[in-house]
Amino acid sequence: MDKLKEHYTQLVKEYREVFVSVWNAMQGEINSLNHDKDGIKNYLDVEVEKHIQLQRNIITDRRRCFKCGMCGACCKLAISEFSPTALLEKASRGDKFAREFISTFTPYENEEDAEKQYPLYIQLLKESGEKVYYYYCKKVTEDNKCSDYENRPTICRDYPDNPIQMLHPTCSFIEWHESIQKIVLTIKAMTEIREHFRKELEKGDL
Ligand code: SF4
Ligand code: SF4
Repeated sequence: MDKLKEHYTQLVKEYREVFVSVWNAMQGEINSLNHDKDGIKNYLDVEVEKHIQLQRNIITDRRRCFKCGMCGACCKLAISEFSPTALLEKASRGDKFAREFISTFTPYENEEDAEKQYPLYIQLLKESGEKVYYYYCKKVTEDNKCSDYENRPTICRDYPDNPIQMLHPTCSFIEWHESIQKIVLTIKAMTEIREHFRKELEKGDL
């Protein structure tokens, strides 16, 4: 557990460092454009976007080097930031992911039941301070197999496709996840900083 806590603290520290470095680089580019508003807009909309896309491609390419180890953890304990009611609402508004998620996973009756499955993982999620909801799939067997493997939905085929989410410690994609950590932090920082500069540009402060 201490190791996991350490990892989280290290991540926060690393994000600060990445943020400062990305900030300096982007600020430098903007300064070099000498208040040329169209140039700055083009830099933020086109150049930064191109860079983000390149980084995303690296993440996807690296993922192809790994395959599911069939530990069953993501079937027995799926996490969502949305409650069942919120997912149903989203699904009724046409959100495909929400529709697939809620038709695949069933909410745990209570947190304790989820905790019994993966206590350390849940403890860590709690410590991260984010409010999340716990779900499971009724199709996973005792020996962690999918009882309807050929017909499993896209969300199962694509998992894990979100590099920001915290993976189960038993997931065979952990190495992929770790290897893209810095790229993920860079994308996050670029996206946040770009929003900041866009607002500054709108206000006429650049
Ligand atoms: S459908 Fe199969 S792969 Fe998908 S969560 Fe359920 S058991 Fe797992
Ligand atoms: S947690 Fe990872 S290794 Fe385990 S079943 Fe899910 S995708 Fe496969």
